[in-house]
Amino acid sequence: MTVLISGAGIAGLTLGLSLHQLGVPFRIIEAIAELRPLGFGINLQPHAVRELYDLGLEEKLDTVGLKTERICYFNAKGQEVWSEPRGIDAGYDYPQYSIHRGGLQMMLHETLLERCGARAILAGAKVNEWFETPQGLEVVLTDRQYGFEIDRLRGSVLVACDGVRSATRAKLFPEAGAPNWRKTMMWRGVAHGPKFLGGRTMTISGTKGAKFVAYPIANKGRTQSYIHWIADIDVAPERDWDAQDWSRRGRIDDVMPTFADWKFDWLDIPALIAGTEAVWEYPMIDRDPLPGWVDGRIALLGDAAHPMYPIGSNGASQGILDARVMARELSALGEGAEALQSYDRIRRGPVNDIILANREQGPDAVLDEVAERAPGGFEDIDAVMSLDERRACSDRYKEATGLTVEAINAQPSIIGPVMV
Ligand SMILES: Cc1cc2nc3c(=O)[nH]c(=O)nc-3n(C[C@H](O)[C@H](O)[C@H](O)COP(=O)(O)OP(=O)(O)OC[C@H]3O[C@@H](n4cnc5c(N)ncnc54)[C@H](O)[C@@H]3O)c2cc1C
Repeated sequence: MTVLISGAGIAGLTLGLSLHQLGVPFRIIEAIAELRPLGFGINLQPHAVRELYDLGLEEKLDTVGLKTERICYFNAKGQEVWSEPRGIDAGYDYPQYSIHRGGLQMMLHETLLERCGARAILAGAKVNEWFETPQGLEVVLTDRQYGFEIDRLRGSVLVACDGVRSATRAKLFPEAGAPNWRKTMMWRGVAHGPKFLGGRTMTISGTKGAKFVAYPIANKGRTQSYIHWIADIDVAPERDWDAQDWSRRGRIDDVMPTFADWKFDWLDIPALIAGTEAVWEYPMIDRDPLPGWVDGRIALLGDAAHPMYPIGSNGASQGILDARVMARELSALGEGAEALQSYDRIRRGPVNDIILANREQGPDAVLDEVAERAPGGFEDIDAVMSLDERRACSDRYKEATGLTVEAINAQPSIIGPVMV
C-alpha cells in the first residue's frame, strides 16, 4: 500500500524523500497546480541540516542557502546587546543555514522528481475528506478553486503536511479553534545591499512590538548580499489579520515610519526598506498545542501539527525532523496506526514545548529586558545586564527546545545517510 501525503511544502517533500530512501511507497498530493518559489528567508538549525545532508543534499543546500556564522541582538539604537556564534562556529557538528524558503522547496521538489519520477506528486488537488476502508483509507481529491471531486486515491495512511491552515487538522480537531494572533503583523521583503557584519550574520534589533530582523540569504557578487528582512510591528487589535495568506501584499508605508531613523553604522534599515521591490504581510500567529497528532490512520506533521511563532528559527527545522521520524517509524513498524502513534509519542511533547517557549519570546527576551532597564540606550551593556544574565536568556531557550550543542551533537541521526 501507499503512504498518502497531503502538501508538498518543506515537510511533505522531506517526508517523500525519506520514504523513498527507505523503500516505502508514497504519493504526495499538492493543492497548488504548479509549485513556485514562494516565501522569504527561513533558518535551518543544525539537527535539521544533518537530516538534509543524510538525504544527500549538502551540495544543493550550499547552492541555495548561506551558512550562518553568528546571531547578534541590538537595541533600537543599533547598540549590541548580545552576540553568539551559530552552527559550526558555535561547536555544532553541522551548520545552520539561512535560506530562501521557496528556493529550498524547489530544490527538494526537483530532487524528488529526479529520484522518484513525476508520478510521486499529484499537483492541483486538495485533500479535505477521506473514508476508512478495510485495508486503509480512501482519500477524496478535490479541485482547489471550485471544490468539485477530481479523483479518489487509496492508501495505507494519510500524513497531513498541509501547513498552518491544515484542512485535516480542522476536521480532526474542530474544537481546537482559530489561530492565536499576537496583535503583531510581520512585513517581509528581500532587497540587496552591502554585506554587513561579515556577510553571514543574522541580526535582531528592537523589542517586542517594534522589531527588525535582517539576515543575508545569498551573496550578490563579492560585496553585496540578498538580505531578507522582517519587520514585526504591534498593531491595533481591530486590524484585519485573518487572511493567513503568504502572498498578501503589504506597503512600504506600513513599515517605514516605525524604522525611519534606524540608521545604524552596520546597516541602514530605512535604505534597505526603501530598496525593496515588494513587501508582503502576514500575521504572527500560532495555535495551541494539541493533545494528539494522530487519529487512527491519519497524522498531522509540520505546521499542520504545530504552527509556532517564528521566533528562535524552529518552524521549518521541526517539520524536517518530524518527517524523518515519521519515515523511520513507518518503515520499522509498517504503514499503519502503530507507526503513527510511535511518531506522535516521540515528537509531540518536545515540539509542543517549543510552541510554549516561543510565546515567552524565546531568545529575543534579552532585548525586552534590556529595553526595560535602559529605554534610552546605554554606554556599557554590562552595567545594564551582566554577561551571565544575557547568556542565560539564550541558554534557557536552547535548553527548553533541546538546542544545546551537547544535546544536538549527542543525538544520533534519525535514519542515517542515503546510499547513492
Ligand atoms: C507559500 C508559502 C510561503 C511561506 N513563506 C514563509 C516565509 O517567508 N517564512 C517563514 O518562516 N515561513 C514561511 N512559510 C511557512 C514555512 O514553510 C513553514 O513554517 C515550515 O517550512 C513548515 O512547512 P510545512 O511543510 O509544514 O508547511 P508549508 O510550507 O506551509 O507547506 C504546506 C503545503 O501544503 C499545501 N496544502 C495546503 N492545503 C492543502 C490540502 N488541503 N491538500 C493538499 N495540499 C495542501 C500548500 O499548498 C503547501 O504547499 C511559507 C509557507 C507557504 C505555503
